[in-house]
Amino acid sequence: MRKLLFESIVKNPLTEPPPSENAAALAELAANLDRAARHRLGRSLSIREVDAGSCNGCELEIHALNNVFYDLERLGLRFVASPRHADVLLVTGPVTKNMREALERTYNATPDPKWVIAVGDCAVDGGMFAGSYAVTGGISAVIPVDLHIRGCPPTPLQLLEGLIAVLTADKRLGP
Ligand code: SF4
Repeated sequence: MRKLLFESIVKNPLTEPPPSENAAALAELAANLDRAARHRLGRSLSIREVDAGSCNGCELEIHALNNVFYDLERLGLRFVASPRHADVLLVTGPVTKNMREALERTYNATPDPKWVIAVGDCAVDGGMFAGSYAVTGGISAVIPVDLHIRGCPPTPLQLLEGLIAVLTADKRLGP
């Protein structure tokens, strides 16, 4: 015990280096996203995350958007607890049979205009879980999808790029 205490005093703390992502590129992406959200919606963007049956690998990357490095709330981008407050559904998959109805109800509870982004390879077509007795398929087998972000899992920067792509490409609200 004494040895441990001594080592904790003389040694540097064990930490991991920060992500190698370019901080300037991150700031630019986040600012573009905030601008696009305000242009389309007149306010910041609210995101409801839905886990339709993923392994939670995609969730770890989505959670990273809220950590001190990405810290997206400072730009007005926020995750909300209810689909009734959401503009975007960020859905990870595959859709398990147990989650199918919950996903449909979440989609129906989200007010228009809304966007659905399917996150991860499993969300496209079931990925490595395709064909399982417990899986319905990809997200688009259950609800309409505006954008797929591939990756296993996709990085936080890819998630940001996807959010920008959806907000800038969608024509339902006009230019
Ligand atoms: S895409 Fe990869 S990380 Fe995401 S749910 Fe599927 S297996 Fe997990």
